[in-house]
Amino acid sequence: MMYIDPHIHVTSRTTDDYEAMQQAGIVAIIEPAFWLGQPRTKVGSFQDYFSSLIGWERFRASQFGIRHYCTIGLNSKEANNEALAEQVMELLPLYIGKEGVVAVGEIGYDDQTEAEDRYFRQQLDLAKEVNLPVMIHTPHRDKKRGTTRSMDVCEEQGLDPGMVVVDHNNEETVKEVLDRGYWAAFSIYPNTKMGNERMVEIVRQYGPERIIVNSAADWGISDPLAVPKTAALMLERGIPETHVQMVCYQNALTAYGQSGQIKESDWLQATPVDQRQLFSGNSVLRGGQTPKVGSGSSNIIKN
Ligand SMILES: [Zn+2]
Repeated sequence: MMYIDPHIHVTSRTTDDYEAMQQAGIVAIIEPAFWLGQPRTKVGSFQDYFSSLIGWERFRASQFGIRHYCTIGLNSKEANNEALAEQVMELLPLYIGKEGVVAVGEIGYDDQTEAEDRYFRQQLDLAKEVNLPVMIHTPHRDKKRGTTRSMDVCEEQGLDPGMVVVDHNNEETVKEVLDRGYWAAFSIYPNTKMGNERMVEIVRQYGPERIIVNSAADWGISDPLAVPKTAALMLERGIPETHVQMVCYQNALTAYGQSGQIKESDWLQATPVDQRQLFSGNSVLRGGQTPKVGSGSSNIIKN
């Protein structure tokens, strides 16, 4: 089975992770622009970060046989630095039209402040203007209220729920998100929040329509194989294969495919991996390593 991980911050992950993901059947990933742990103090830091999402990281993923897409946005946490946020907002239109940008995101609420609300609305307007899907980060604190409020605001700004993926759901939020016509994404964190077992029960209870599974793996304790592992557990627990295929592959493709920037032929007809390639003069290889050339690890040739 092929998998898509539609929310993973691979910039923070290693080449071992990329190799393991490719071997586990992950063919495509979406990397949302987000907070890096260290608060940024200059607009140039955002600019270089956005550039790496559409440039270097996209190239790096391709060197391991994985198609990389991204979302561009001002995250809710850093929206609270208003002087900087103003400058980032001016930057966004330069990036959201670039190749491989499948949504505006991840945006929404962190502490549900007035500044977060303002930049969330402005970015929803931007997404609507350019007809891109939206990826919403729902707050970890006061989640139920923050999730409801996020959807209320989308509707106040005139967005079509079918263009909006509400992420980081749990058992308390899923019903309302689905009832209101939004895509409901779930982040599988190891041992906390959405354990794999709980995800199986949600798919059993609500069915596969508009449900999306992701790893949200980043620089914290997380698992870049959460999607294929959850798929395996679903199959083991008797969830039909067609349902697993929807929640771990097809729904993400359909939702973000509305951008016109991601399609199945991107990986089905991909050019084979060639680690001899360079990006701005840089390769993923270090001195003396043998590049992989061809689609799989069995096709290694000497340079
Ligand atoms: Zn994230």
